[in-house]
Amino acid sequence: MAADAASDAAGVDAGRLSFDVIVLGAGIMGSCAAHAAASRGASVLLLERFDLLHHLGSSHGESRTIRDAYAKAYYPPMVRLARRLWSDAQADAGYRVLTPTPQLCIGPRSNASFLAAIRNGGEAEADIEKRWGGVFRVPDGWVTAVSELGGGVLSATKAVAMFQTLAIKKGAVVRDNTEVVGIVKKEGEDGVRVVTSKGEEFHGAKCVVTVGAWASKLVKSVAGVELPIQPVHKLTQYWKIKPGHEHELTPEAGFPTFSSYGKPFVYSTPSLEFPGLIKINDDGGSPCDPDSRDWGSEASFAAAAERVARWIREFMPGHVETAGGPVFRQACMCAMTPDKDFIVDFLGGEFGEDVVLGAGFSCHGFKMGPAVGMILAEMAIDGEARTAVEAGVELQHFRINRFEGNPAGTPTRIRSRLPIPLSETSMISVVP
Ligand SMILES: Cc1cc2nc3c(=O)[nH]c(=O)nc-3n(C[C@H](O)[C@H](O)[C@H](O)COP(=O)(O)OP(=O)(O)OC[C@H]3O[C@@H](n4cnc5c(N)ncnc54)[C@H](O)[C@@H]3O)c2cc1C
Repeated sequence: MAADAASDAAGVDAGRLSFDVIVLGAGIMGSCAAHAAASRGASVLLLERFDLLHHLGSSHGESRTIRDAYAKAYYPPMVRLARRLWSDAQADAGYRVLTPTPQLCIGPRSNASFLAAIRNGGEAEADIEKRWGGVFRVPDGWVTAVSELGGGVLSATKAVAMFQTLAIKKGAVVRDNTEVVGIVKKEGEDGVRVVTSKGEEFHGAKCVVTVGAWASKLVKSVAGVELPIQPVHKLTQYWKIKPGHEHELTPEAGFPTFSSYGKPFVYSTPSLEFPGLIKINDDGGSPCDPDSRDWGSEASFAAAAERVARWIREFMPGHVETAGGPVFRQACMCAMTPDKDFIVDFLGGEFGEDVVLGAGFSCHGFKMGPAVGMILAEMAIDGEARTAVEAGVELQHFRINRFEGNPAGTPTRIRSRLPIPLSETSMISVVP
């Protein structure tokens, strides 16, 4: 059955069934990829299974951290490219989604990843007692390091909406409530057919797959490729700031985004989206099936809250109220790979370079959305991601075939089993 039109939502390009690039999934990655491809002059169709800006995937909510501090040295160049693209997009949109802040890292001197992260993030040891007098209490043997320009808060849903709007302004057609169930290669035909659950078919010279926690299911069903991506259910927790300290913990007062490299790993953004509250989370989460989530039990909420409350009582005792637990929480999903590195690659096999995959963003991808979107769009249009390479991004770390230990290069089918068993009781760490 042919589609009525790819334009029901946008009201443009009525009747169009064929596109240069079809992007599947309108989270941050797909929205950025659609924008980047449309900015290159490609005709673009962005298909989303649910309503735009829904809360069922990974990209919704009030805030995400952007930080340069990464233990793996190949991420900071991608963060720097993303910062440039965030800034360009804000200039085009005429409003801001990124609030710059300093980034603070605290951790034991013996923790090698912590030391690597502060080195790679350009952070310098700093006396945080002087800087944020009395807010933090850091144990003996721990180091505190700050980068003045190394942090920031991204308004998540607002940022996704911004890239969707910019994509539409560049001519992209955006369709929500459209579930893709197939990507088909037809004998003797260039490109691919993208098939929806309503039986519609669109032709794409290229297709970009950015379906978040659904990636392993979709890719398995269309290509028989098993991606080792484990969806994880996670909670964002907001805590009440003790009376009199509300302003101290805001970006206007110079409060940082921060990471604490202990057990648990804890991270936070300054008080911004909900005045009087501060987001403080740990890295825990439970494996889930994105199509049959139980959304967590009261016992798992209580356990997550207690882990963070214990940290607050030890590290920020005078400033944040822990009695009664977090006052607001929001569920979200992360798509974890075994090494917590992204998958950014051609799908290969019968699809060759016609299908580009961006997946497994492992709970730390949002900040790099515009860079990933640019990479995916250039791979689709040019067959290579020149802008990223020029910016020093090393894409070999993100290949599909790394899971079999094959040398980097031609994509191959992977047969690795899911490394993390689906179990509702186990808890896994989601921060690299
Ligand atoms: C609690 C939490 C905190 C985080 N904190 C940070 C942080 O501080 N900094 C940071 O950088 N990152 C952070 N992340 C990670 C970041 O949010 C994700 O890496 C990023 O949002 C992934 O985006 P995505 O586009 O791949 O996935 P999604 O946003 O899930 O987008 C995928 C889209 O594809 C759609 N879709 C699925 N199947 C189909 C189909 N068959 N047809 C059509 N559409 C389909 C889905 O509905 C969805 O809208 C955090 C994540 C969580 C959950």
